[in-house]
Amino acid sequence: MKEKPGNIRSRRELFAAVGRYATLGLLTAGVAGIFAKRRRLIRQGKCVSSRTCVGCKILARCELPRAFSARDALIGVDDVRD
Ligand code: SF4
Repeated sequence: MKEKPGNIRSRRELFAAVGRYATLGLLTAGVAGIFAKRRRLIRQGKCVSSRTCVGCKILARCELPRAFSARDALIGVDDVRD
């Protein structure tokens, strides 16, 4: 008689399955936590990136002082070499 796929036949397979699903659950919770933190920071008007503003996806619409400075630096470049 053939066994159905997905049947757990031994304790080792049970532990492997539990470990696999626990890891998947932790990864999912971690990703959800990252997105929740980002949304909370945006709602609070705080910076969502620990890097520079230049590579930030929301630089064009960001209202934080650091973003104004970055936009000024990127757009308002004056060549002072006379
Ligand atoms: S544009 Fe700059 S200040 Fe605004 S969220 Fe991005 S990194 Fe932070």
